[in-house]
Amino acid sequence: MIKVENLNKYYINGNNKLHALKNINFFIDKGEFVGIMGSSGSGKSTLMNILGCLDHEFQGKYILDNIEINELYDETLSEIRNKKIGFIFQAFNLLPKLSALENVELPLIYRGIPKEERLLLAKEALLKVGLKDRINHKPNELSGGQKQRVAIARALVNNPSIILADEPTGNLDSSSEREIMNLLRELNDQGRTIVIVTHEPEIGRECKRVIKFKDGAIIEDVKKL
Ligand code: ADP
Ligand code: ADP
Repeated sequence: MIKVENLNKYYINGNNKLHALKNINFFIDKGEFVGIMGSSGSGKSTLMNILGCLDHEFQGKYILDNIEINELYDETLSEIRNKKIGFIFQAFNLLPKLSALENVELPLIYRGIPKEERLLLAKEALLKVGLKDRINHKPNELSGGQKQRVAIARALVNNPSIILADEPTGNLDSSSEREIMNLLRELNDQGRTIVIVTHEPEIGRECKRVIKFKDGAIIEDVKKL
């Protein structure tokens, strides 16, 4: 489902050229739960930007569901991003003036889905993450764990083939962290592919596979039985 071949990424600033990803190769199958680990500056965000179809200025191949991402124009790329990828961020990235329900509706508005169907799908997604009785709450009326649940519902509402999570528990206390990891594992048990960036060893231990980066290169790729 995800194939990365001889992937190289350079950042060029004037005369400075930084080799941020160095000949990366891996394959991620449907239903995997992958942790991307490595210290700050090792290339994790750079990789996630590419996997998330936010950056296609790279060398090598990135194939997502049989589509060669590097050959696409920006417009097609954002279409693929909306359809196939659900993003979860450390800072939740919810719109503060909108209710939980309205936040989850956003990706559907973007796709031009009519109001009635939108409400149905958004409610269903909020039900899946256990927030049925919070749909009209605004973000500041929700706990950190609940905010992240809304963000997960928003990520799920387009039925993406992959969920990309960047330090999803980085802003949460340990009980909310547990709650969110349990939810992600549930989604994975239902067949969702999940790729999660983390520097927390406890989170890494919960992934079924860990790919470790150092200085832009993969130094370890271990699947657990
Ligand atoms: P991580 O997410 O693991 O902290 P990054 O992917 O953010 O690592 O960064 C990898 C390397 O690329 C670092 O040396 C970082 O300073 C550099 N880098 C990241 N983004 C840019 C950018 N937009 N321009 C120039 N250098 C960048
Ligand atoms: P993270 O905490 O996710 O690793 P970073 O702190 O590495 O993120 O980077 C935050 C933002 O700054 C990213 O958008 C990244 O592309 C950009 N960035 C990181 N390093 C550099 C750099 N050396 N020059 C320019 N932009 C950078």
